[in-house]
Amino acid sequence: MHKNSDFMAEKKSDLGNSSTEGTADEIKMKLSRLKAKLKDSKRKKPVTTPKSTPKKIKSATKAKEAKKKEIKKQAEAKKQEAKKQAEAKKKEVKKKQAKKQAEAKKKQAKKQAEAKKQEAKKQAEAKKQAEEEAQRTYEEELEEQLTEEQITDFQIHKTDMDKLINHVCEIVATYGNNGIHQSDLWKKLKLTSRDGSRLALKLERMGLITREKILLKGRWTYKLIIIKSPIGTDSLSGAPCLVCPVESKCSLDGDISPKTCQFIEDWVLIELKTKKSK
Ligand code: SF4
Repeated sequence: MHKNSDFMAEKKSDLGNSSTEGTADEIKMKLSRLKAKLKDSKRKKPVTTPKSTPKKIKSATKAKEAKKKEIKKQAEAKKQEAKKQAEAKKKEVKKKQAKKQAEAKKKQAKKQAEAKKQEAKKQAEAKKQAEEEAQRTYEEELEEQLTEEQITDFQIHKTDMDKLINHVCEIVATYGNNGIHQSDLWKKLKLTSRDGSRLALKLERMGLITREKILLKGRWTYKLIIIKSPIGTDSLSGAPCLVCPVESKCSLDGDISPKTCQFIEDWVLIELKTKKSK
């Protein structure tokens, strides 16, 4: 305001002077100078620093609240992250425990299966042994107890063994390849099972019969089958023994014996061929 009044006073003074000088050009020039001064004074008007307004305070509060909100948000996010990590850790521990338990269960199952297998094996072996035991015959026990010599030298008291052997072979031969149950044979010959079993072993060692193990009425026994047919009395006329020069030295257990005699073997073969051709 003060500056404007100075300007007006100057203006009035300038105008007063112009009337005294009296020329229009001068007035115009003075007016022009005044206008420029006015313009200049406006340009130089001091810039007043704006004081804080309620609007700015509001904005600062808003910013503060936003910052507070942001911090709260970050804390919440941090909390959520920690919770997430804790849950993941818990899950991992649980997973590990489950894996451990599954492995232990698997191990236990494997152990049980192995034990079961072992038990089954043991039972199978016991069963096999029991079966083998049940299949074991008196003759097998004899073969274990007696020597080969005791078997081949077997004699029955007051019995002509050659005659008995020949008779046994004759009976067995009548049954052909089907054979005869040894118990039936011993009954026919009125022999005890003890003697019959020993005789069967002897005949087998002599190569006259074979023994076939069979199950009869739940008991394991033998069927006797002829190998070499005995020679009938009608064909004895051709027997080499009748004209044998060493007959007196020949015996079952001697160096010269029907067991190893080539004459006998050849003669038996001829007899068999003759029988078959008939
Ligand atoms: S078995 Fe032989 S060795 Fe003995 S008597 Fe007869 S033919 Fe002679």
